[in-house]
Amino acid sequence: MTIQQHIYNQDPDQITANTQLIAVNGDQGTLRIAVKENLMRASGGGEPRDRGMVSLAANDNWPVRDVVKMDGLTWMVLDQPSTVPQVGDPLTIRIDGDHRERRRRLHTAVHLCLRSIYCQFAEVEVGLAEIDESAESAVIMASVDRDVVDPDIWEVDRRLRSYVLDNRAVEPVKAKSVEAAEEEYGDLLRISDRYAFKGRIRLIHIDGLDLNPCSGLHHRSSNIGPYSLRRMLAESKQIKLRLELRACWTYWYGD
Ligand SMILES: [Zn+2]
Repeated sequence: MTIQQHIYNQDPDQITANTQLIAVNGDQGTLRIAVKENLMRASGGGEPRDRGMVSLAANDNWPVRDVVKMDGLTWMVLDQPSTVPQVGDPLTIRIDGDHRERRRRLHTAVHLCLRSIYCQFAEVEVGLAEIDESAESAVIMASVDRDVVDPDIWEVDRRLRSYVLDNRAVEPVKAKSVEAAEEEYGDLLRISDRYAFKGRIRLIHIDGLDLNPCSGLHHRSSNIGPYSLRRMLAESKQIKLRLELRACWTYWYGD
């Protein structure tokens, strides 16, 4: 079988691709197709899937209903088109660029927010870090070592805003193991369950600030643009925050 390339890993800015079908299957009115140069990322790691369209021929556009991983490939799920395409057929994929862009901004924001929470509490266990389906907001929840009071939230927010203004580079790096990453980056490494990782890992490095294993797509700088951060109701010894991408009145406290 032809090996599938996930081109979003090399270039998350690419929003169209001309490629070729490498596998087709389906049942009950749906069609699953896999392509050689795959542009659509399936959901995972707290990030919803890409949205978009597939053109099997000129003026023949099919919305992608789902993106699933199966049998070592990533498949796009379509409603059954009138003509079933064949392996080897050319096709064009277009993703919803705004949706991906918002997801990337939120994903970088989640890393920054968690780093800020780690700075605020002695012990942190991340329970939830999830971007909603429409990629307009993210919810972050963590258990911490003590009751959370309002000044904790102000401090987490203040620190997050200073990270955003710092405009730090955000890029994926590879390490041959968790231990190797720890040796190279020291305290920057933030990891919730080191035993879940075996061998080579992909990590997201926020320059001089944070390093965390992640396979998602991220905004290339810590300057994620306007956002609001709000406290949500949570149990005692839990911090729960909603981060929304929207222009709002903000105040930077400074360092
Ligand atoms: Zn990430």
